[in-house]
Order: sequence, then structure tokens, then C-alpha cells
Amino acid sequence: MIKLKNILKEDAQFVTEFKRPELKYKLNSLNKNIDTKTMEEHYGVHFKGYTDKMNEAIKDEQIRVGSIHELLRLAVNYSPKLKNNAGGYYNHVIYFEQFTPENKSPKDKLKYLLEREFADFKEEFTQAGLDLFGSGWVWLVSDGTDNLSIITTQNQDNPYMANNFGGQILLGMDVWEHAYYLKHQADRKAHIKDFFAVIDWDVVAGRLK
Ligand code: MN
Repeated sequence: MIKLKNILKEDAQFVTEFKRPELKYKLNSLNKNIDTKTMEEHYGVHFKGYTDKMNEAIKDEQIRVGSIHELLRLAVNYSPKLKNNAGGYYNHVIYFEQFTPENKSPKDKLKYLLEREFADFKEEFTQAGLDLFGSGWVWLVSDGTDNLSIITTQNQDNPYMANNFGGQILLGMDVWEHAYYLKHQADRKAHIKDFFAVIDWDVVAGRLK
């Protein structure tokens, strides 16, 4: 699992610039499910764009925060440029960190919790993605204990922006069209199926605290 503090450039106690993490797999290695062109555009153009614009806004607005989580928690107080791009940055850190070309399944405690909390997790997560109108994200979150739930947010918002969220994101699914349109056009359901095929469940389990 990528440790966020290792990808930050520290300025005394304040972070002045956030960086995209290196991926632990090759962009073309998910090609059977997520095509290389989509991965290249998504990581190299969209993710880069959010990162650059967030860093610009941090500089222009002279924002002083100690961590990305602090930035997200305070984001509603800043400009739409800062909020949207900080969310876009962080959501894609989560997104790209959680894939693998290996075929994995939930196991041990995570498997137990998914089966305890949901009648059919994959089906419910898929339905949440289909029901989300417009652009946004579907999240599997914990409440800080072992209670899991599925929530959705619009645009590039995420659960950490809510004042009353005390849990963790375990899994994040991008349902913006840029995540699937080149391969699947409007068929979001096919995108969700492909998304499930490349999840690194060990990374997801590692986010459980
Ligand atoms: Mn995206």
C-alpha cells in the first residue's frame, strides 16, 4: 500500500505540493479489462490535471495544511477550483492504488465483513453505480469500526469532505464517463463488471483500520 506521506513534498509542517503516486502495475497490464488507452488518458491526463490544478490553487490561495485529509476536510471553505481538484486528486490516488492484473478475491476478515454486511455486495455496489445520476463515485466505507456501507458522492466529492465522517474509504469506483467511454461508450454496467475484475482486495483490506 502506498503511504501518502511518502509522496508529499513537505515544507516545514505544511504540505505545499502533492504528487501522483507511481503505480505498482503497468498501465497496459489491465488491458483485458481496462483498456490501455483509457488508462493512459485517465492516469496521464485526467489525474495529472486534477493534481496540477490542485497544486496551483494551494499556491494561489496560500493554503497551509498538514495533510491531504486536512485539505479535504477544509475544502468546502476554499474555492471551487481547490475543492474540485483536491477531491479529483485524492479520489484518483485511491482509484489507481487499488488495481492489480492478478485475479484476487476478498479473503479473511474483509470477506467475512462483506458477507456479514451485505446480502450480495457486488450486486449492491453495481446497482449503486447504475443509480448514480451524472458523474460521481461509489464508495465502500467503514465507519471506523467494522461496520461497512456503500455510499455515493457527486462530481469529485468524497466522504472525507463531510464533517461527520469518521471512517475510512475502503474501495472507490469512478463512474465518470472518462473512466469507461472509450471502451464501453454508454454501457456503465460493463465498466463496473470490468472494474470488479481488477480489484486488488489486499489493498482494500489494508485500508480497514
Ligand atoms: Mn476519473
